[in-house]
Amino acid sequence: LVRARNVHKSFDHLEVLKGIDLDVAPGEVVVILGPSGSGKSTFLRCINHLEAIDRGSIEVDGEQIGYRFRKGRLERLSNHAITLQRRKIGMVFQQFNLYPHMTVLQNIIEAPVGIHGESRAKAIENARVLLERVGLSAKADNYPRQLSGGQQQRVAIARALAIKPTLMLFDEPTSALDPELVGEVLATMRDLAKQGLTMIVVTHEIGFAREAADRVVFMDGGKVVEQGKPDDVLGNPQHPRTRSFLSRFI
Ligand code: ATP
Ligand code: MG
Repeated sequence: LVRARNVHKSFDHLEVLKGIDLDVAPGEVVVILGPSGSGKSTFLRCINHLEAIDRGSIEVDGEQIGYRFRKGRLERLSNHAITLQRRKIGMVFQQFNLYPHMTVLQNIIEAPVGIHGESRAKAIENARVLLERVGLSAKADNYPRQLSGGQQQRVAIARALAIKPTLMLFDEPTSALDPELVGEVLATMRDLAKQGLTMIVVTHEIGFAREAADRVVFMDGGKVVEQGKPDDVLGNPQHPRTRSFLSRFI
């Protein structure tokens, strides 16, 4: 479903991604681990074209993200075409960024109705299903400030799912939460994983990686250093950088 090849990205003179290759199969759950500054967030942002890449290619669902070949040249897609591509990709950030002046339900239907032109009635029907799925049916008419951090993040997950993405990206979705609220968000993510959603998750939650991931990818210095089954990468890391990174969690 995702095919990244030789992805390079620099900010001014800082080369942040130095040739990332990654394949993700439909239904696969990939957890990306790595030290701060290794380029994890930048890579996720490249996948949905929040950042443009300098070199290489990223395909999602068979489509090159952000560009197309025309007359033998790579050409940037129109903003409209990029919006359509993003419809396939849901993203959840560390900061949930819900609209504070909108209710939970309004937050969830905003993108489908406002950006993608879905009918309001249909969007509301779908939003209620999603709220059920994240365990927040009772909160539809509350405002974000009336919810706990964990509940807000679950709304953010429902909001990302509202566009019916084929791929979900999570960037440290639990790092901003109080420790006692982390579990409920991870449980929601585990459910999604079990239901067969394709997910790429950047997280420091090693327990989640061990239980929910099909594959763990370790990034360092803008490269994929090591990847494999969770038991192998977490239990028997081959690369010294992976070992020293993981030793912090034991
Ligand atoms: P963390 O675990 O701390 O979230 P990360 O692996 O997600 O780290 P990135 O956020 O991808 O790392 O950042 C990688 C490097 O790119 C860092 O040195 C960061 O300062 C730099 N960087 C990221 N975004 C920008 C930007 N918009 N402009 C300039 N530099 C940036
Ligand atoms: Mg980051």
